[in-house]
Amino acid sequence: MTMTPPVQSLFRPQLKAMQAYTVADAQNLIKLDAMENPYSWPDAIKQEWLTHLQDCAINRYPDPVATALTNSLRKTNRVPVQADILLGNGSDEIIQILLMALQQNSSIMAPEPGFVMYKQVALSLGLNYLGIPLQADFSLDMPVMLNAIKTQQPAVIFLAYPNNPTGNLFAEQDIIDIIVASEGLVVVDEAYAPFTDASFMPKLPEFNNLLVMRTVSKLGLAGLRLGFLAGHSDIITELNKIRLPYNINSLTQLTAEFALNRIDFLITQTQHIRQQRQWLFDRLKHINGLSVYPSEANFILFKSNTIPADTVFQSLKQRGILIKNLSPQGGLLEQCLRVTVGKKDENALFIQRLTQILQP
Ligand code: PMP
Repeated sequence: MTMTPPVQSLFRPQLKAMQAYTVADAQNLIKLDAMENPYSWPDAIKQEWLTHLQDCAINRYPDPVATALTNSLRKTNRVPVQADILLGNGSDEIIQILLMALQQNSSIMAPEPGFVMYKQVALSLGLNYLGIPLQADFSLDMPVMLNAIKTQQPAVIFLAYPNNPTGNLFAEQDIIDIIVASEGLVVVDEAYAPFTDASFMPKLPEFNNLLVMRTVSKLGLAGLRLGFLAGHSDIITELNKIRLPYNINSLTQLTAEFALNRIDFLITQTQHIRQQRQWLFDRLKHINGLSVYPSEANFILFKSNTIPADTVFQSLKQRGILIKNLSPQGGLLEQCLRVTVGKKDENALFIQRLTQILQP
């Protein structure tokens, strides 16, 4: 028998304190937990896609710079000509590539509650992480943010716009003030761009330290794993040295380009989601015992003021519906739950079952 490897002394001590990112088992449940687009593709498009895939040279390595896909992404996302782009295996990988490029003692800053991966990746790389609490109305606490920028000089600040899990947009002027005050990089994470009209993409040429990150996941292509970062060529050139050569596989390149060239059907789907978001919001507001927060994304955050959120979550699950219980994260999220906007019938069922639980 060989000896057990000395894991504790080989690996960074910070890893011991971390937990792996876990995903709930959604088998046999209506899945309203992960901000996915609930619609599948029209049959005619699916058939055309399958025919298209037959041309894929799967015995060859992928195009290392994904030329055709890059052009489609630039066009459909209106990336300014002055900006370069870096592709990642989901925006998760972009976060990792960016943080891997930093000096060892760098600090990363993000408002909280926010997207958990900024902290997860920062800690996994042994970097310092500063979470700055949002105000009770989920707006940025500007005096605290600006003071932390001055004293801690974060190398990267992440601002999700709209924010996950709160769903709101931070004030545009606050973000501009942060970009101007920061000597480091500011990533405006526009993962939920398909569900809002607000964007910092057109502002890229104005600020050399601004980066805009997007993904095709929420648009309807979460299974492909494709995100990108747009920004100044000096930054993108350095990050490309860290990116592994074939991080975007051939099937993803072909499929994403195919779908983006027919983006209208996906936009129609996101328009349905926006309409359903409004429907869900109106219904949630009429259920006793809930506080409901407006959203510019494809999910809605709400707080249970009477029954514990854990009970609401479990009772929904028993009734066949999976949402996200955020209450264990505590702080502003205490007693909070997040529901992803689903199809019309799924949303109706969710409202019916939630009403049964809260107003029996
Ligand atoms: N940013 C935000 C704000 C998110 O909520 C998510 C996914 N939940 C991501 C990035 C990651 O997206 P991707 O699927 O591209 O890795």
